[in-house]
Amino acid sequence: MQVWLAGLAGQAVYLAVLAAVFTLLAFLSRGRAALTWPKTLRQSALTNFLILQFASLNGVLYLVLIAPLAAGYVWLGLPALEASAWDGVPLAVKALAALLVYDFSLYWVHRMLHTSVLWPAHAVHHSDPELHFLSWSRGHFTEQFVIAACLVFTSSWMGFRLEEIAGLALIKGLHQYYVHSKLDWDHGIFRDVLVSPQFHRWHHANVPEAYDKNFASIFPVFDRMFGTYYNSGSAIDVPTGIADAPANDFLTQTLYPFRKWAAMLQARKAGLRAA
Ligand SMILES: [Zn+2]
Ligand SMILES: [Zn+2]
Repeated sequence: MQVWLAGLAGQAVYLAVLAAVFTLLAFLSRGRAALTWPKTLRQSALTNFLILQFASLNGVLYLVLIAPLAAGYVWLGLPALEASAWDGVPLAVKALAALLVYDFSLYWVHRMLHTSVLWPAHAVHHSDPELHFLSWSRGHFTEQFVIAACLVFTSSWMGFRLEEIAGLALIKGLHQYYVHSKLDWDHGIFRDVLVSPQFHRWHHANVPEAYDKNFASIFPVFDRMFGTYYNSGSAIDVPTGIADAPANDFLTQTLYPFRKWAAMLQARKAGLRAA
């Protein structure tokens, strides 16, 4: 109990520091307009915080999944580099290669999450009407299976030990908080090198021209390569969220995909009976 409380306190401090940094940066770049805190934002932040706590609790499930997924990769006989292939390669090059492969796999999985059957799980992440840094925490726990699969694919294919690339998750986490923040930055001449808050805000934009665009998490080059890149400039005032979003509370968000999948099954059964 004490360990859990200490962890919770540490996380609260970490998030408070992030909130202060992003608010200050937003104020410096957009002035007083960046300091408005609508009621929806407070409700969104609370929901996201509770979802984050639930995700921490089911982290055990995530760890349990890693070993069977890695065994499945070997059983399928999928290609894999020998660990010795990386002998003498500088750590920075290994890290960059791991990030590229991880982001490549996540790009395609993210595209699949935007298709009809998987969408209910991912819709939870997109349902936040007030996109802010903590919106990144709004991810349904079933999506953790997907992320675990991408990590296993990256480590297995490249011959890395999982611990070697797990450290990158910390840096990636910080970057994800940043790209969900209310900053309207596009990284200027580096806009195609590293995903920016503006790039990702367009991914969350609830406007038809931006639907199913900007799937990359780290490297926008994948969207350039596969024809899903979109950025028409400032995105800070563009509406975010989705039509028909589940209510902005923890329980509704957690149950939402299961309700949707049950409705899909019912509709399918009814369709088969009618045929
Ligand atoms: Zn998405
Ligand atoms: Zn997002």
